[in-house]
Amino acid sequence: MNGLDPRQRRATLAAALEATRARITAAAAACGRDPNEITLVVVTKTHPTADIRLLAGLGVQDVGENRVQEAVAKREEGAFEGLRLHLIGQLQTNKAALAGRYAAMVHSLDRPRLIAPLAKGAAAAGHTLTVLIQVSLDADPTRGGAAPDAVVGLAELVADSPLRLGGVMAVPPVEADPAAAFAELARIAQRVRQVDPAASIISAGMSGDLEQAVAAGATHLRVGTAILGSRTRVG
Ligand SMILES: *Cc1c(COP(=O)(O)O)cnc(C)c1O
Repeated sequence: MNGLDPRQRRATLAAALEATRARITAAAAACGRDPNEITLVVVTKTHPTADIRLLAGLGVQDVGENRVQEAVAKREEGAFEGLRLHLIGQLQTNKAALAGRYAAMVHSLDRPRLIAPLAKGAAAAGHTLTVLIQVSLDADPTRGGAAPDAVVGLAELVADSPLRLGGVMAVPPVEADPAAAFAELARIAQRVRQVDPAASIISAGMSGDLEQAVAAGATHLRVGTAILGSRTRVG
């Protein structure tokens, strides 16, 4: 993945992290927002535990993984000690209990059947799990997410469950203008806040479009490549 010695890798990550934080600060300033209300989730999928420990040493507090099995393997290596683990990828029903057990936040709840196993996993771990409703903005079932008109119903089910309804998440459609996608997500977020006014999280924005996401009100950014470099596999 990276054949560098740890000191070199640490310096590379530190510089990329600083550059990303500067982008967030500038984007917030450009729209009159407080950068401290924006959480940077560093997406570490495909990258080794050694990188995650370097990031922890550089002050990162939130990391994101998209595959439950990969997260469990890294956890066994001690990757996430002292960090909040966010699970951001499409969830298989049979992995949801594990996700609920180990994650602080699951960004990708997109169907009712995930609620019970997520809650069961969180109860086994003795913690309250925050979940976001993933919204599909392109009607492509392979990319996950609930259809916009199903989101409020799903949010109501979560609000009536032991899970904490945090808000919404989306990945912009591949060919779409991210600003338009984020504006649509912001409208849906408003409807979810009518279910629970505390559900104020908007998880949007990645390496290539974090400025547009901040402008549209994102509270959580999921940034991988801009900090860790390219991945050997997609997804
Ligand atoms: C991989 C991934 C990201 C990070 O994307 P980058 O372009 O590498 O910043 C964000 N969100 C989700 C859901 C992902 O799977």
